[in-house]
Amino acid sequence: LLGYIGIDTIIEQMRKKTMKTGFDFNIMVVGHSGLGKSTLVNTLFKSQVSRRSAGWARDEKIPKTVEIKSVSHVIEEGGVKMKLTVVDTPGFGDQINNDNCWEPISKYINEQYEKFLKEEVNITRKKRIPDTRVHCCIYFISPTGHSLRQLDTEFMKRLSHSVNIIPVIAKADTMTIEERQEFKQRVRKELEMSGIEFYPQKEFDEDMEDKSDNDKIREAMPFAVVGSDKEYQVNGKRVLGRKTAWGIVEVENPNHCEFAQLRDFLIRSHLQDLKEVTHNIHYETYIRDLTRMEVC
Ligand code: GDP
Ligand code: MG
Repeated sequence: LLGYIGIDTIIEQMRKKTMKTGFDFNIMVVGHSGLGKSTLVNTLFKSQVSRRSAGWARDEKIPKTVEIKSVSHVIEEGGVKMKLTVVDTPGFGDQINNDNCWEPISKYINEQYEKFLKEEVNITRKKRIPDTRVHCCIYFISPTGHSLRQLDTEFMKRLSHSVNIIPVIAKADTMTIEERQEFKQRVRKELEMSGIEFYPQKEFDEDMEDKSDNDKIREAMPFAVVGSDKEYQVNGKRVLGRKTAWGIVEVENPNHCEFAQLRDFLIRSHLQDLKEVTHNIHYETYIRDLTRMEVC
């Protein structure tokens, strides 16, 4: 029957199409300043890009981020091109008065939806619309070991309806293993009590298999990450790490932290789903709210 419908040829057509056009994937990082957002952006690219392509020789100190700024790299694998963009944001909640401090971020997210919508309704529509919509927003939680700040819950609560939120515990190397486990558990409980739906949202699990896979991920979240863009020699191999007086924290070593888990989750196992939830849920919500506003 499959041969009759020709599903395999449809899959082949889809593969060819993505190979030709490529696709966009956009990640945003948000959180208090100094939590290692810009460093993690570099870690992500270094662990993905530089091992394959040359030309990443700079070893500069990361300046303080003062405006929303995006960095893109095209990653090519098996003939398919992915344009990976990370949107870096300035310290969130650094001001004395933090009322409405999520507004610039919310505005940025909505502007990308607006841009996409304009292209979609354009009569001379492009065959492939460049997609700058934020597919996931990594929210950095300070490794205090105590609880979430009010601002953290406030931000996630407000934004979880317009973007996929993925909370992470920043600078996990500053906590012991026990502290990390305890803190992760506490954060999960607090998120649940505040009614914050982070990605992958339970309501969008498609079937039992999906649910059981995602349950495992949800139980492992928020990922406790460490970032670095410096390389060190460990057992004859060059690894990204942080050198301390008592040894090297290897950022891609799953025994040291959960950076590799986060990366694989984002750009391997859940990439397509993040794009779909963005398009089918968050973008649709944006459009629905627009039409509602016009009616009023
Ligand atoms: P941002 O303000 O959130 O963008 O933070 P930066 O990436 O500029 O980092 C602020 C400081 O924290 C720098 O000195 C980094 O070297 C350091 N840092 C970044 N990531 C980590 C980490 O995972 N662990 C530790 N201990 N320090 C980090
Ligand atoms: Mg920064």
